[in-house]
Amino acid sequence: IRVRPLTCTEARRGDQQVVHSLGDGAVHVSAARHDATFGFSAVFDAGASQEAVFEGSGMRQLVELAIDGFSCTVFAFGQTGSGKTYTLMGPLAQSETQPASPALLGLMQRSFTCLLEQSRSRGSDLALSASYLEIYNEQVRDLLSPGPPCALPLRWSKTRGFYVENQLSVEFESLEAIVSLLLQGSQRRRTSAHALNRHSSRSHALLTIHIRSRAVSAHPAPGEGWGASACPSKQGTLCFVDLAGSERVKETGSSGELSVEANSINRSLLALGKSWGTRPGSPAGPHRSPVTSFVAPPPAGHCISLLAKPRGKRTHIPYRDSKLTRLLARSLGGSGITLMVACISPSSRCLSETLSTLHYASRARRVTTRP
Ligand code: ADP
Ligand code: MG
Repeated sequence: IRVRPLTCTEARRGDQQVVHSLGDGAVHVSAARHDATFGFSAVFDAGASQEAVFEGSGMRQLVELAIDGFSCTVFAFGQTGSGKTYTLMGPLAQSETQPASPALLGLMQRSFTCLLEQSRSRGSDLALSASYLEIYNEQVRDLLSPGPPCALPLRWSKTRGFYVENQLSVEFESLEAIVSLLLQGSQRRRTSAHALNRHSSRSHALLTIHIRSRAVSAHPAPGEGWGASACPSKQGTLCFVDLAGSERVKETGSSGELSVEANSINRSLLALGKSWGTRPGSPAGPHRSPVTSFVAPPPAGHCISLLAKPRGKRTHIPYRDSKLTRLLARSLGGSGITLMVACISPSSRCLSETLSTLHYASRARRVTTRP
């Protein structure tokens, strides 16, 4: 859970602060007719730095698991203006004029740095590429391809599962290159004005880093190429999902086109809730990955760890309910590992959305999946 500070506007108009972190993952909401305490793996309050969120959320471990061949996903969830984009990218992506200070960089840039450092220090040869999509009104658009955005078809094949046809995947080797892709894509994201937040993001954005690793043999046999001396390649992904605002339609004063948007957004979030809701109440335990046959404990400090359970009864997961869940089927399914960062505002005016975010996050936290 990340609680952002009161904004200047909220402070000026005298909004009360109704959310307080009690330490040890407990967060307390107190207002006139509400008094509730929730427990999570980690709570970051208004004073928490971007670095503290990166280190305390399990993000570093997630990057390492992606290098090891897992499908890893980070979701930022919460109402518009609650700090999702700030948590993922920092303030940088919202102003084109001056770069933000390095201390404000978000989970994405910190993960890229970590990934590139690991790639150097592990002595393994990592082939990195990125794709960046948005889902707007249940249409998938490529944020990296030049020209006006056009809808791309979502397909399914036995070997690849769900994939987006003609999606651009751009290789990168440096921090500058991937950060510049991130900025290019973010600027193309659909935004439209409505009562709650002038720049509210009405689309889901998915930045996926594809990591192909091949451990390098220390002593390649003479005459042997990379292929012969290297270990079998592993393919992991690290996906950052900046979800559209979770607020309900009536509170944003949406009408016409905007209410169509809000309905598509809610459909995606509902489907996510359902796919997570298939195994409530299961305790987390050691899980076996089909990718590496390595038994991984859930990373320490994880907000939510959805690792595969080797046994258990099958339950239908409604991936077909929305494009978002179809695209994330691999991550939400058996061998995926998911970190969910639920963002909330401390303001009394956001109370009902804050409670709904906390309830959603509590449900998500109790879910485990199987391969
Ligand atoms: P969302 O993406 O959820 O709509 P934003 O990330 O755009 O929300 O945040 C809304 C506003 O609050 C922005 O002006 C952002 O800079 C500010 N903000 C969000 N989280 C924090 C934080 N932890 N510290 C300081 N400012 C924040
Ligand atoms: Mg945003």
